[in-house]
Amino acid sequence: MNDKPKIHMLGVPFDDYSSFMKGTAEAPPKIREALHSYSTNLCAEDGTDLSTDHRWEDAGDLTFGETGKAFALIKKSVGDFLDRGEKTIVFGGDHSITYPIVKAYSKKYDRLNILHFDAHPDLYDELDGNKFSHACPIARIMEGKHASRLVQVGIRTMNPHQQEQAERFGVEVNHMKNCNADTKFEFVGPVYITFDMDVLDPAFAPGVSHHEPGGMSTRDVITIIQNLDAEIVGADIVEYNPKCDLNGVTAMTAAKMVKEIIAKMLL
Ligand code: MN
Ligand code: MN
Repeated sequence: MNDKPKIHMLGVPFDDYSSFMKGTAEAPPKIREALHSYSTNLCAEDGTDLSTDHRWEDAGDLTFGETGKAFALIKKSVGDFLDRGEKTIVFGGDHSITYPIVKAYSKKYDRLNILHFDAHPDLYDELDGNKFSHACPIARIMEGKHASRLVQVGIRTMNPHQQEQAERFGVEVNHMKNCNADTKFEFVGPVYITFDMDVLDPAFAPGVSHHEPGGMSTRDVITIIQNLDAEIVGADIVEYNPKCDLNGVTAMTAAKMVKEIIAKMLL
């Protein structure tokens, strides 16, 4: 086994661009605590034991000063790993952070696919006057041509404006009503996964700012990820809000997603 870590897990405690409720900046230490909880272990379901596998490491959390400089720091921190031929799995933080992360990835991979799990399309041109709101990252990514293909899964809040944006940018929207564990995705070339915790039904993941009923089960999303026919080069897990959690169940679910996605990235 190669001892040098190739996957770096990075916490991004940033929620300045949340629209409805703050709190996701407090997520990284909670997810880390759940990941190492003595109530479970560090094995993914395929048997990958992250407690002994040194192909990944915890790179700690970013520290932010001024809001205006946050995206530059996120892009540079992720870009530095990519420049060394390595990969990142980031946990946020609100969904706005995906834009600077993907900007770094698109510099490294010129034909990047993005698989976006979310209750929301995040395609607003702006929200509350903020073009970098957590409701806008997919619009910014598509506008900047940072993805060659973008596939959304679990969407259940599409409105006319975002529908227009989806058509304009050629986003492939898989509405929640058509998604289940058997939904299969195939990609040609590298894939980046952006995973908004609110794709899950609030019954499975109550610790999010925007409770949107009628979502996926934890089992269904894990099965979809395990069945992906794709090379996963990076990921983020965003929108976990500890302020809304019940008994830490959402932290544990986010940690489970970290384990499953790292295992998939190591294949
Ligand atoms: Mn989102
Ligand atoms: Mn969402």
